Amino acid sequence: MAAAGTTKALGDSLNQESTSGAEIIPLQPRPRIYTRSEHPISRKFIADSALKVLYRLNKAGYRALLVGGSVRDLLLGHQPKDFDVATDALPEQVRELFRNCRLIGRRFRLAHVQFGSEIIEVATFRAAHDGDTDGAAMTDDGRILRDNVYGTLDDDVWRRDFTVNALYYDIANFSIVDYVGGVEDLKANRLRLLGDPEKRFREDPVRMLRAVRFATKLGFEIDAATLAPINRLRHLLNDIAPARLFDEILKLFHGGFGRASFEILRKYGLFHCLCPLTDQSLEGNEGAFVQQLLTAAFDNTDRRIADGKPVTPAFLFAALLWQSMEDEAAANVANGLNLLDAIQLAADTVISKQVARIAIPRRFSNITREIWVLQPRLVKRTAKRAPRLMEHPRFRAAYDFLLLRAQAGEPIQEAADWWTQFIEADDPSRSKLLEAAPPDAARPTRRRRRRGGSGRNRTPAPVTDG
Ligand code: ATP
Ligand code: MG
Repeated sequence: MAAAGTTKALGDSLNQESTSGAEIIPLQPRPRIYTRSEHPISRKFIADSALKVLYRLNKAGYRALLVGGSVRDLLLGHQPKDFDVATDALPEQVRELFRNCRLIGRRFRLAHVQFGSEIIEVATFRAAHDGDTDGAAMTDDGRILRDNVYGTLDDDVWRRDFTVNALYYDIANFSIVDYVGGVEDLKANRLRLLGDPEKRFREDPVRMLRAVRFATKLGFEIDAATLAPINRLRHLLNDIAPARLFDEILKLFHGGFGRASFEILRKYGLFHCLCPLTDQSLEGNEGAFVQQLLTAAFDNTDRRIADGKPVTPAFLFAALLWQSMEDEAAANVANGLNLLDAIQLAADTVISKQVARIAIPRRFSNITREIWVLQPRLVKRTAKRAPRLMEHPRFRAAYDFLLLRAQAGEPIQEAADWWTQFIEADDPSRSKLLEAAPPDAARPTRRRRRRGGSGRNRTPAPVTDG
């Protein structure tokens, strides 16, 4: 989040008064230059690898500037995630300068310069185009398919998405180049799309998701003009490749602000385009429960990221699709399938529907499936099987998921507590707990969800706990 202090520091160091929030700043045909003494970015905050790339390009006679998230984050006093470089050198010319360099991308040709596990992305300045130029391509409805028309810095700025992402740090004189009022917008905590928002969203509908991501991550307000067309255009996300949406959803949900991103995506009707099944279950009879489960899942993920612990999309998708899977499994049981087959089949059904929108790689969806299949076994926790269950490679994830379900109000708290004790117990205490565990052939009990409070709206037992 952009702390007020950070913004103030930026304002102070730029030695300017802060502007009022609502004001729209006209786009500048000429850049405003902030010289080194007028901005707070020091080279000691820039990664050595990025400096090496900038200096070498510059020495070879090319323009070399940091651009995008790194300049934005440095101005806010945050540590950048990565460093992107913009230059007038062509990709092939960049490759000639660096041994450790690979050219990638068709839609957008780039040079990657590798330093150990770090990659500095070097992009040649691009020019705006209407699609019928060599190197460019657009669909009939204005979506950019290929963007390889090279240009100058003056051109490059206009193809950027938000004003705060269109700032450049010039290694030639350590100044900030701002054509678009991005520095003012940073100070005002304002996220504003460059140019005509409708046209820009049509060119690339993923910008709608990027708007949500930056607004939550930076704690910025999305400008009214930028927000306005989203309602009308969100369906365009249906045309985006599911693999690209998977990348975006990871950035949204695994960026440390998953819960806030989820809430804003819902607020603007974008969530439905990404996870239609989940959206339906949020609107359905079990909506309050699903809301609680997802809130708990996002909070859990955000907390793990803050603590530097690993996270997996398998876990989030287990939560996102849990209610849909349960509904399907209940229908399968009603049709005569045994519980395990019912869950397996339900998992196939909901995962394949979800994958049509977001391409969850199989290595993750397989884990989601395992987490689900383990749920009824964890709830049963029979004396004979419990110790072996703990050896299962997905035990930990399935146990964490069981805790989430209990937290969201499913009547499985007893099982969750039993496992918590069992995991923490020494051998003698474990034997005691096993004596108290249900015998192997325990009859399934019908369970009801403790939620809804008044007793109205209570629903039949979740099938997977039988
Ligand atoms: P992060 O901190 O998440 O890396 P970022 O702003 O660096 O944020 P990237 O996705 O790394 O975001 O992109 C780098 C820059 O490229 C952006 O700041 C923006 O200027 C430009 N850019 C990236 N994606 C788009 C897009 N879809 N449309 C227009 N410009 C884009
Ligand atoms: Mg970046």
